[in-house]
Amino acid sequence: MAVPKRKMSRSNTRARRSQWKTTATTLTTCPQCKSQTMPHTACPTCGAYKGRTFAEAVRTEFAN
Ligand SMILES: [Zn+2]
Repeated sequence: MAVPKRKMSRSNTRARRSQWKTTATTLTTCPQCKSQTMPHTACPTCGAYKGRTFAEAVRTEFAN
């Protein structure tokens, strides 16, 4: 495996890290309670997913 020959300068390190960015989470609207939820995930508010309600999802929300 290639190993760097020289220590990277603080300036270079910081210039590279200045390009790190976060992206906004994609959110969809729950068809049942109209709250914002992550796609492909049971709604954390009411536990609804694909027309069914998953009470387990609601319970684990408060357990963690
Ligand atoms: Zn919901």
